[in-house]
Amino acid sequence: MPQAQIRKAISGFYYVYDGQNLLPCKGRGVFRNRGISPLVGDYVDYEKAGENEGVITIIHERKNELVRPPVSNVDLALLVFSAKEPEFSPHLLDRFLVVIESHHIEPIICITKNDLMTEQDELYREMIAYYESIGYTVISTSREDDGIIDKLGPHLSGKISVLAGQSGVGKSSLLNMLVPDLNLKTGEISEALGRGKHTTRHVELVEVAGGLIADTPGFSSLDFDHIDKEDLSANFIEFDRLSQACKFRGCLHVKEPKCAVKTAVENGEVAKSRYENYLQFLQEIMDRKPRYE
Ligand code: GDP
Ligand code: ZN
Repeated sequence: MPQAQIRKAISGFYYVYDGQNLLPCKGRGVFRNRGISPLVGDYVDYEKAGENEGVITIIHERKNELVRPPVSNVDLALLVFSAKEPEFSPHLLDRFLVVIESHHIEPIICITKNDLMTEQDELYREMIAYYESIGYTVISTSREDDGIIDKLGPHLSGKISVLAGQSGVGKSSLLNMLVPDLNLKTGEISEALGRGKHTTRHVELVEVAGGLIADTPGFSSLDFDHIDKEDLSANFIEFDRLSQACKFRGCLHVKEPKCAVKTAVENGEVAKSRYENYLQFLQEIMDRKPRYE
């Protein structure tokens, strides 16, 4: 039997989907005492409390949880980057990839606004080919793309997904194409109103192509606070494979001799920008103040 799941949270009620209906439930006080409160995406047990209400009694263990949007058990992140306006940034992409990989979420790179591309955008094309060559799925689209469900549907099916990316890259436009009922405001309109988007929205998981997607795009925070320096390279998927051949176990790929990652950078197998970003993120981690254990 499929487990009951929280699909949205509004004003102290968690709406639990039991396979047929959404039942408004309260959380039991005991979760709060232990520092856990229910999250959209949680699989739960609940008891009926009256005709049309319930009480959540158990929150099943989470696979992961994001802060923005506040959703748990996320399987897939659509990392949305525009080809132009704002310009495609390999640096920001690597930052997103590291954070997403570290949460054990599968990333898909979605390049929007491909209508703005020109023949001259060679660097961009090379970078995309590189990310594909190391094993990432890259999907290129624009808001005129009628085939978007065909392209993304098979990836979304059976999963919980979120969209992430910088402001202005076209996340709301993409979400509207995937789930037309949402009618999210996009850039032009919300700027005209002079206030930020999504400020009053509550996150909800909505159905798309046989899966669920968070209706509020966001970024989960992009810092590396939870990553130790020894673990960083595991989140660069091609480094992770190469590091098996490094001479030293726990090689950080910086100054160690016989480092397979450095060799691959030198002979052009690994993109220079990936290695430079790795070194920069490593430095950020080493500069951070020691944590209280
Ligand atoms: P968000 O901030 O990531 O949610 O981005 P929006 O969806 O609000 O889009 C930001 C701006 O980019 C708006 O002005 C959109 O009209 C525009 N935009 C979105 N998708 C496309 C596209 O495929 N092509 C072009 N040329 N503009 C787009
Ligand atoms: Zn190494």
